[in-house]
Amino acid sequence: MTEKPITDYDEEIKNCSCSYCGNNCDDITYLLKDKKIVGVRHACRLGASKIINDEDQRLLNPMIRNKEGILEETTWDIALDKTAKLLSESTRPILYGWGETSIEAIKQGIDLAEATGSVMDNQSTICHGASIQAFQNVGHPVMTLGEVKNRADVIIYIGTNPMDDHPRHLSRYTAFPEGFFRRNGREDRTIITIDPKYTNTAKVSDEWIKFNINEDYAFLNALRSILKGNEIESEEIAGVSREKLYELIEIMKNAEYGALFFGLGLTQTLAKQRNIDILIQLIEDLNQYSKWSMLPMRGFFNVNGFNIAMTSETGYPYGVDFARGYPRYMVGETTTIDLLNRREPDFFMAVAADPGVQFPGYSIQHLANIPTVQIDTHWGPYTELSDIVLPSTRVGVETEGTAYRMDSIPIYMKKVIDKQKNCHSDEWILSEIYKRILRIKEERRDN
Ligand code: SF4
Repeated sequence: MTEKPITDYDEEIKNCSCSYCGNNCDDITYLLKDKKIVGVRHACRLGASKIINDEDQRLLNPMIRNKEGILEETTWDIALDKTAKLLSESTRPILYGWGETSIEAIKQGIDLAEATGSVMDNQSTICHGASIQAFQNVGHPVMTLGEVKNRADVIIYIGTNPMDDHPRHLSRYTAFPEGFFRRNGREDRTIITIDPKYTNTAKVSDEWIKFNINEDYAFLNALRSILKGNEIESEEIAGVSREKLYELIEIMKNAEYGALFFGLGLTQTLAKQRNIDILIQLIEDLNQYSKWSMLPMRGFFNVNGFNIAMTSETGYPYGVDFARGYPRYMVGETTTIDLLNRREPDFFMAVAADPGVQFPGYSIQHLANIPTVQIDTHWGPYTELSDIVLPSTRVGVETEGTAYRMDSIPIYMKKVIDKQKNCHSDEWILSEIYKRILRIKEERRDN
């Protein structure tokens, strides 16, 4: 059934951005009526449903949990004072999240983490952290999505399903658009999906190569081995026939410009960052024959921006610990899940993220025993765990800001409508907490 086009609007705003996935589509048109968004053009279903149904479950006022365990509305001053007091009294605070907010808010968060000796961490700790570790170990050949659109003739998706998770990836950047050197769009390109499952991306690809779950490393190792001229004696490796492995290597070697995208299907299986290590080495080897680059498929619209901002400010990408007054980073030591599993944190603030849906059960249990603060736009499982709730505004809708697309291109996200009356931007909320922390520190010094 086709949906009816929206005709009942009085304003059309072009070149807006979608603050949902790492595609950061910035060609969105918002349709407004009486200064409210009533429709959207060019967004996929995921993005459109988030933009249009924005008022469902919206957090509208600051709240504090009372002695009976009920969240009660309060004033901003009371909620911010209490947050600053709890944070200043803690000895092992964590400031977590940041994947769905602006660089400007993240920068304010770094100042706050530094002033309070907090650990500052983001969703990489549970998703592409393994990729980042591999990049640190061996580096990686990068590309922009613009290059892919204009040049790529062979595109491989491995361990990722963009048709469901990043719905406009193929139509905007890879398979379908006309490019400067790919005038015929889809016809000029070969799309291959490599995945244990027959995904929706596999369905629209020229070829689906199925390999066994948790045998990614063996599969990638076999491809490298063939590329280096070794004979494969076994009939199949990782569930892929010898003939198919040779065929794939021939396609890769003969590409004019190859682009490989990988997802959590690689980082979350047994070999973790070693899968990415060997993938990077495969891409390096391929560059002796052709031009190949690679990119991780980043989920939230600014999860990559957090890694970039943190690395630029502290030298480390995520899980940065300011407890000693200077930044430290050690995966397994200063990363959120490990800290929670060791029951170390005595304060937890989630900014633009919901640990209630992202964390394993054992880690979440500890959050029920320590002071918790939520800065977010919508009600979610973490709201049920929070002692203080600070309602914020949406970047790219009610607040302007900067985010980094999955290929590390910065995107300016403009403000489209006025904010909800009693909500404030993440940046404003964090700056208010920061001011109060400085005041508390001053008072302590004076006494
Ligand atoms: S692909 Fe991602 S960024 Fe683009 S409209 Fe859909 S959800 Fe939004």
